[in-house]
Amino acid sequence: MHATSFDEFLLSPPIKRAIADCGFEHPSEVQNQCIPQAILGADVICQAKSGMGKTAVFVISTLEQLKEFEDSSVEARLVALVLCHTRELAFQICKEFERFKRHMSNIKVEVFYGGVPIVNDRQVLQKGTPHIVIGTPGRILKLAQEGHLKLTSIKHFILDECDRMLESIEMRQDVQKIFKLTPHEKQVMMFSATLSQEIRPVCKKFMRKPLEIYVTDNSKLTLHGLQQYYVPLHEREKIRTLFDILDAVEFNQVVIFVRSIDRAKMLCNVMNEGNFPAITIHSRLAQPERIALFKQLKDFKKRILVATDLFGRGIDVSKINVVINFDMPDSADSYLHRVGRAGRFGTKGLAISFVSSEEDATVLNNVQSLFAVNIAKMPETIDSTTYMATTQSSE
Ligand code: ADP
Repeated sequence: MHATSFDEFLLSPPIKRAIADCGFEHPSEVQNQCIPQAILGADVICQAKSGMGKTAVFVISTLEQLKEFEDSSVEARLVALVLCHTRELAFQICKEFERFKRHMSNIKVEVFYGGVPIVNDRQVLQKGTPHIVIGTPGRILKLAQEGHLKLTSIKHFILDECDRMLESIEMRQDVQKIFKLTPHEKQVMMFSATLSQEIRPVCKKFMRKPLEIYVTDNSKLTLHGLQQYYVPLHEREKIRTLFDILDAVEFNQVVIFVRSIDRAKMLCNVMNEGNFPAITIHSRLAQPERIALFKQLKDFKKRILVATDLFGRGIDVSKINVVINFDMPDSADSYLHRVGRAGRFGTKGLAISFVSSEEDATVLNNVQSLFAVNIAKMPETIDSTTYMATTQSSE
């Protein structure tokens, strides 16, 4: 099916209006492939490249199936649950639901995650039943086990970044426990840019005859608007090189990835001393501060973020056009997710990776062979038009 307009999905008027308000003109390929079946209640397992609108697939499909609750005489029940791996992503997905349900005033959405007092969540749930809940597994499980969150009426169960959620044993166990508390009859949808052969059967255990959308040719996961380079250097040259790059390139917003929290803190301090007003977001910060910093980034109040892999997936900040791997990630998949923070929805971007060891070089080579992308050594100068101007495409 190749719909060229959202009209062809026959969505209800409030959702169509919200899509128009968002400025979405055409559905992306993944939206074309999934939405028609997802709105009919089919299970979906979907791999599609970063930044091509997977979130809107499950947000639109879920809201479309919640129309009955627009009638205020229908008693509120919790019908949709979205689980994801980080608190910032949960917060972001909640905002996406709010954006698309703006003309569905009766529908209530709540987000729950760890690191903040659970009493607040209990109070929220005592005041009224949301129709949609987004959250991280630990907090959702706790609220469900206590009986504050009733999962027996769930009809839509969604996992974002599903490979990440099911690969880690701890998270998988929580997801399984939550899943068991939901009814047998329900729609299950799972999404990620990376779905290895090994993880697919694990995902499918949660589903019945799902619509399966996989990227069979890994080269199709490459973001074509993204210029990718590497810089060979010694560890001790990294800071100076980073400063030189930030002086030379034009960026709207930039994310600099490092391998540990200690290095994130250290680099952020050094950058601030060097007059680069950076912030850092990592898991050792208090949760309210984490979200406050994330909001500042989303609102373009901060332009330079130093981050760990906590921020490597799912996060959508449309003005990020440069990603720097100050420390190389430990796998090709992780590289793909990190650089996908730039070049969102077909826009242009630039990704630069520092290669200072043989292990780094191995990861870089793996990226090149796995995703059929040529990553050249960074030239002396980079033409800013290759990564600054925005082009929209719905690949
Ligand atoms: P993914 O989950 O695939 O990485 P997101 O769902 O975060 O991607 O979407 C990336 C960006 O593209 C978001 O800012 C989203 O609002 C935007 N977007 C999604 N679908 C469309 C569309 N059809 N037209 C224009 N922008 C879109």
